[in-house]
Amino acid sequence: MPYSYDDQNIFAKILRGEIPNNTVLETAHSLAFHDIRPQAPVHVLVIPKGPYVCYDHFAEAATDAEIVDFTRAVGEVCRMTGVQPGEGGDGFRAISNTGENGVQEVPHFHLHILGGRPLGRMLT
Ligand code: 5GP
Repeated sequence: MPYSYDDQNIFAKILRGEIPNNTVLETAHSLAFHDIRPQAPVHVLVIPKGPYVCYDHFAEAATDAEIVDFTRAVGEVCRMTGVQPGEGGDGFRAISNTGENGVQEVPHFHLHILGGRPLGRMLT
């Protein structure tokens, strides 16, 4: 079944400027902002600006430019927040909750970047 995008989801509203966000980085095709309910000292959400429901939808339907932009934005956010090991940080976890079993709350593809403390073997 093809993915159907709900343009009333909260991240679509953030992208349209209808609700505020605490922006970390904005690029041509991506936006990164602090999670409203942080689960770690660093908890940033990175989203593509395009209307993609989840990782698979993004990987399948996004342009190469969007995918490159998003991937580089994730690296840049990790550097900016000081968690990138190559830049002297202590590391991070990148998570994309997907669908019902993944307990995805917001149906707009996003990557959680968590760091700033030891995260244990699994995030629950
Ligand atoms: P997921 O869909 O992966 O379960 O998580 C969605 C995430 O979005 C949650 O961590 C939640 O705290 C965050 N979130 C939900 N609504 C808002 C909002 O209005 N602003 C921001 N910055 N984050 C939000």
